[in-house]
Amino acid sequence: MTYPYSAPVSQNLFDRAALVTPGGVNSPVRAFGAVGGTPRFMVSGTGPYLTDADGREYVDLVCSWGPMILGHSHPEVLDAVLEAARRGTSFGTPSEGEVTLAEEIVARVEPVEQVRLVSSGTEATMSAIRLARGFTGRSKVIKFAGCYHGHVDALLAAAGSGVATFALPDTPGVTGAQAAETLVLPYNDLDSVRAAFAAHPGEIACVITEASPGNMGCVPPRDGFNAGLKQLCAEHGALYVSDEVMTGFRTSKAGWYGLDGVRPDLMTFGKVMGGGFPTAAFGGRADVMARLAPAGPVYQAGTLSGNPVATAAGLAQLRLLDDAAYATLDRVSGELRGLVGEALSKEGVAHRVQNAGNMFSVFFTADEVLDYDDAKAQESFRYAAFFHTMLSQGVYLPPSAFECWFVSTAHDERAVERIATALPAAARAAAEATA
Ligand code: PLP
Repeated sequence: MTYPYSAPVSQNLFDRAALVTPGGVNSPVRAFGAVGGTPRFMVSGTGPYLTDADGREYVDLVCSWGPMILGHSHPEVLDAVLEAARRGTSFGTPSEGEVTLAEEIVARVEPVEQVRLVSSGTEATMSAIRLARGFTGRSKVIKFAGCYHGHVDALLAAAGSGVATFALPDTPGVTGAQAAETLVLPYNDLDSVRAAFAAHPGEIACVITEASPGNMGCVPPRDGFNAGLKQLCAEHGALYVSDEVMTGFRTSKAGWYGLDGVRPDLMTFGKVMGGGFPTAAFGGRADVMARLAPAGPVYQAGTLSGNPVATAAGLAQLRLLDDAAYATLDRVSGELRGLVGEALSKEGVAHRVQNAGNMFSVFFTADEVLDYDDAKAQESFRYAAFFHTMLSQGVYLPPSAFECWFVSTAHDERAVERIATALPAAARAAAEATA
């Protein structure tokens, strides 16, 4: 396809980057591989807006993939960061901010009795899996196709279908042995989980699931799915691990747990709790967490874990996320979902807008999307045209049809109006797109 605008400064930076960094980016989806064109190199962000290196401004509906829930450069978060940084950027010792952040998490998310801070969502899920294995003395892990839990070796296995099928590694570098410990099952299908437990008695350490998946687009759990997982885990002596890296502190004060009330044994967090800095966490039942070093034998550590600047940012952000903030996020998200649906309907484009609280995404299909196969069956070729037409009008969407859109409390009327103005042409472009 031809792209409506060029971005010469970004292109130049991308060319430079490609010489010194594989693919020119530090995280693959940023390279615009799924939509084509030049990735925009951003130079600043304020409220709901990002400005790129060519001086063009965008309404941001990616929000750094979730963390920037108050918008960019929120003054109170910035003040907390600057104040913390002035006191020192890393001590390698315990510091009070870590305690306060842990207390805030424990106070918000009732199943979390103890929590350990780490530096990324990947580290959180990797550590939670190790702990689940250490606690149960078992090795196998159930995950669901289309759920992403970071680039943990064993959890990159997303291929394979059917009950008790040993997954093949999805990426070179993950060994068959690592992948063989991972059972990949279709999402939203409790029967396959039941069958996997029956086929591997006493072998399954945990089931890990996104609390409400957002990494195949937005595919919420069917009513009773998470409760069913919890029950099966309890029956079979496995741990129920709910990955709330994306949903945590976003879909409600207590994340997805705050909406569905299903009590996990372990939970993982990241994104929002870091206020735009690299901090994440895992936590849960005190008896399970007690197995973690130095209280217990399961090793886990980190030079920058509980970093004072990151914890200050996270704490400042969480403290601003009160009931009114969540009401704003839900309202803005609802408004945008309505506008997107309306624009696509007007152009006769088959679509579904699915949401989990204020997280949402658009699938180019008429059918409900319940699992990864459904998500992949959409007419994703329409997305590139839709995306670039929005981009050319100053709206920054995720550069992939399989990612959620994120709003912030800073998305005010003016920002929503800009999105509304851009949508009709994007819907037309989606309608006209060919495979
Ligand atoms: N878990 C979920 C549900 C995620 O969405 C992500 C990242 O998008 C991760 C884990 C990994 O987090 P990170 O990218 O901070 O390593």
